[in-house]
Amino acid sequence: MINVTRSSMPSFEEYCEEVRGLWDSCWLTNMGEKHRALQAQLEGYLDVPHAILYTNGHLALENVIAALGLPAGGEVITTPFTFVSTTHSIVRNGLVPIFCDVNERDYTIDVTKIEALITDRTVAIVPVHVYGNLCDVDAIEAIAEKHNLKVIYDAAHAFGVKYRGKGVANFGDASMFSFHATKVYNTIEGGAVCFADDALVQVLNDMKNFGIRGQEKIAYVGGNAKMNEFQAAMGICNLRHVDDEIAKRKAVVERYRTRLGGVSGLKLCADQADTVHNYAYFPVVFDGYKYTRDEVFEKLKKNEIIARKYFYPLTNDIDCYRELPTAGADKTPIAKYIADRVLTLPLYADLAAEDVDRICDLILE
Ligand SMILES: *Cc1c(COP(=O)(O)O)cnc(C)c1O
Repeated sequence: MINVTRSSMPSFEEYCEEVRGLWDSCWLTNMGEKHRALQAQLEGYLDVPHAILYTNGHLALENVIAALGLPAGGEVITTPFTFVSTTHSIVRNGLVPIFCDVNERDYTIDVTKIEALITDRTVAIVPVHVYGNLCDVDAIEAIAEKHNLKVIYDAAHAFGVKYRGKGVANFGDASMFSFHATKVYNTIEGGAVCFADDALVQVLNDMKNFGIRGQEKIAYVGGNAKMNEFQAAMGICNLRHVDDEIAKRKAVVERYRTRLGGVSGLKLCADQADTVHNYAYFPVVFDGYKYTRDEVFEKLKKNEIIARKYFYPLTNDIDCYRELPTAGADKTPIAKYIADRVLTLPLYADLAAEDVDRICDLILE
């Protein structure tokens, strides 16, 4: 069976070596040595002033939205073509998601449609670098400056992406990465918030550790979202190999592109200028092809190949948000069009070329 993804792992021996010291220190969590080491390494790798590590990406996003102190009931412009976590993070902070459509080139937020959605209640924009595709960060920055809005990027898919030589998390007020097992880089479960503002460091560290600032000082009504030492150790190991993993993913993507590019009825993501990509996903849109997306999905499944209808359904079309006045997939026609036709094909570093060929043969035959 070929699954849609497969987690990157170091060798068993490498991980054991990395965690061996934990049996001496018996320090398993609460910002221990592995946590501190990984934080420093990630600030370097991601080319950011600050990275605060979390037990998962979702809580990282929830916390950074909370940390920016947006007024309750404020409106946040975001896209529905994403994992539910993005929308949940907004709603769980008492804010109202306003769904903006995506563009047809790379499925990120359509920057020409943002300003029409801005009202006197708008407080922030939460764009998604979906599939690792970079949002139009320059246009978003201009709009945010003009209307005095915060920008928090959901960069869950964008680990290692660079734009004009800068790490992807250097745009907006903050960016969230997910290090979930299914992502390009993983710490089993994990995540980070990256940003430049020194004042945010203390707030986020408080928030992820019950607001504890000292043994007798509780400064903040915080929760618990700390990354533990075993997660951090996995992250240290995986970081040693992530460039190789991305290079292998690139080869897989290039093979898919060679086989499926230019086939009438199949639409692939456009290449992005000035961007170093991470080859996180390989979405194909089936539009006017001899088979529908659902037919291809079923055919692959019969052959024990698991693709994903990723992202379907849209978050403005799911049960828990249907009652929201701003919901409704008809309000975001491009996102609906893509969600109804897109399939992400299996992609991971060790996916063999023969397997890519077999998948393509099944789609094309
Ligand atoms: C994975 C993901 C998240 C959540 O990250 P976790 O680490 O799984 O909590 C948020 N947004 C997007 C777009 C994701 O793909």
